[in-house]
Amino acid sequence: SYRKGGYHAVRIGDPFSAGRYIAQRKLGWGQFSTVWLAYDTLSSSYVALKIQKSAQQFAQAALHEIEFLSAASDGDLQNTKCVVRLIDHFKHAGPNGQHLCMVLEFLGDSLLRLIRYNHYKGLKLDKVKEICRCILTGLDYLHHELGMIHSDLKPENILLVSTIDPGKDPVRSGLTPLLEKPEGNANGGGGGSSTMNLIEKRLKRRAKRAVAKISERRVSMVGEEASSKSERSLDGIDMRCKVVDFGNACWADKQFAEEIQTRQYRAPEVILKSGYSFSVDMWSFGCTAFELVTGDMLFAPKEGNGYGEDEDHLALMMELLGKMPRKIAIGGARSKDYFDRHGDLKRIRRLKYWPLDRLLVDKYKLPEGEAKEFAEFLSPVLEFAPEKRPTAQQCLEHPWMNVVSTQKNADSVESQVRNLKIKG
Ligand code: ADP
Ligand code: MG
Repeated sequence: SYRKGGYHAVRIGDPFSAGRYIAQRKLGWGQFSTVWLAYDTLSSSYVALKIQKSAQQFAQAALHEIEFLSAASDGDLQNTKCVVRLIDHFKHAGPNGQHLCMVLEFLGDSLLRLIRYNHYKGLKLDKVKEICRCILTGLDYLHHELGMIHSDLKPENILLVSTIDPGKDPVRSGLTPLLEKPEGNANGGGGGSSTMNLIEKRLKRRAKRAVAKISERRVSMVGEEASSKSERSLDGIDMRCKVVDFGNACWADKQFAEEIQTRQYRAPEVILKSGYSFSVDMWSFGCTAFELVTGDMLFAPKEGNGYGEDEDHLALMMELLGKMPRKIAIGGARSKDYFDRHGDLKRIRRLKYWPLDRLLVDKYKLPEGEAKEFAEFLSPVLEFAPEKRPTAQQCLEHPWMNVVSTQKNADSVESQVRNLKIKG
């Protein structure tokens, strides 16, 4: 995709926006963009530079994302709402065309990587609660204050806020700002050589100041840290995170697409095309919370013999949450594709019910008490009727969010009870 209309090829040390930003290393990529760690010579800090593919439809999508990111940043001057900040945006001319670039605050690893680092075993409940508090704070802000639906909430789109300091090991972390191209040949970007000389001079002047500043900086990747040790290394780390990726966001009263959300996190009303609102994000939040606790996706539908992915998805939902109320099942524009008039699935006839609290105990070995409390928190979020789901604010007030988890104690109490039962 590094061709006309596609990605912009970036080399380490490349300057952007008349030399203000210097590319350091690649952080990640998506369908439409590559994301780079860059050094901001103006503020002497690290930023994430999201460089969109250049073709018209990608530029359009970037403008869309900038609209939503701007709204979210503008409404959060105190930076307390757990949503990624947009610092700047500009156009960059490259050999493959014009690329819209977004400059975002630099964040750490995604929750997906955190789950991987934990070998898909799930996180401790007190960590899950800290993370959930951030996600819900972000959602409450987007929904309640801005009227915005994120529409693609999932572990991949929630990034940790850096708290540890790998600046102590700049070689490993790559966080010593690189202010010139490694080969010393800075020509190769857009401008002519006179511009490049100017830029180089400016960069060199700033380099000294920047290197002095680096020792003060606290930036990190919690996940990287965690991967080298065991899950224990997360003990005592204040888990904070932010919601990112506004490429699919919409306004509750101005929607753009009927089919939204990543498959596994998709709400039933989206599958059935019954119309949707803020509560689709709450559904995705519920799926995400489950995944943090267990390390497994809540729903991983697959197409099978004689039925499609959608129907399997609906079946999986009902096996966990019980039969969908008939009115809801038959109420969507796509209902007739999946349900008969009684509200039973057309092609998947025999469901194997396994309720959430039992699943948490039987499959994931949560102690009974913990499972019951978590299921009580999660079940309303996974209501089939969208209007019955709690708001982000209501979730924040739920007892489960506000009691410090004593998993270890609960474990030992549970095992003590079990031992007593066995002995008795
Ligand atoms: P897409 O819309 O293409 O999915 P994202 O905004 O989700 O793009 O970014 C793609 C990846 O780039 C993310 O999964 C993450 O690894 C990385 N990334 C994005 N934004 C940041 C950021 N602010 N700080 C650090 N890494 C980021
Ligand atoms: Mg993404």
